[in-house]
Amino acid sequence: MIRFWNKRLKLGVLTQDLEFDEELEQIKKAIKSEVNKKFAGSLAIRMVDSGSCNACEAECNALANPYYDLERLGIYFVASPRHADVMLLSGVMTFNMTPHAIEAYKQIPEPKWVITMGDCPLMKAPFEKTFAIKAPANNHFEVTHHIEGCPPEPREIIKGLLEFLRKI
Ligand code: SF4
Repeated sequence: MIRFWNKRLKLGVLTQDLEFDEELEQIKKAIKSEVNKKFAGSLAIRMVDSGSCNACEAECNALANPYYDLERLGIYFVASPRHADVMLLSGVMTFNMTPHAIEAYKQIPEPKWVITMGDCPLMKAPFEKTFAIKAPANNHFEVTHHIEGCPPEPREIIKGLLEFLRKI
């Protein structure tokens, strides 16, 4: 036990990124202020998976943990597109899911925005020649912002959300 604590005191917490901790605090402040200014303190996101491998969704789930704590910044994931301001789209546009993604988009009240995440919606390699997909997401929707990565890490997603908020 003593050996464990000695090692712990010597090495510190290896998973902690002190530099990013500081950056994250700034990102959080900026997001909160943008959400207050542009969405009266509450931004609702409907996540739509049009054919993903679910890794993008798993990274989004991490945004609800106490470290990122997106809800405290006024950003909520909602179950119905009718309650949403933004559609966050992941996955390739498969034949089966494309009509449902379009339907979900139609049901979001105006004004509305689309954010795409991951390489899939853009149909970058190796997804561009799959038989089961339609055109890239930007052929179906006016995409306001794209968050890159496969999958993007939670820190990239939270930065992407801030970029989106600053853009609109
Ligand atoms: S972008 Fe990558 S991680 Fe995200 S759904 Fe596509 S394959 Fe999965």
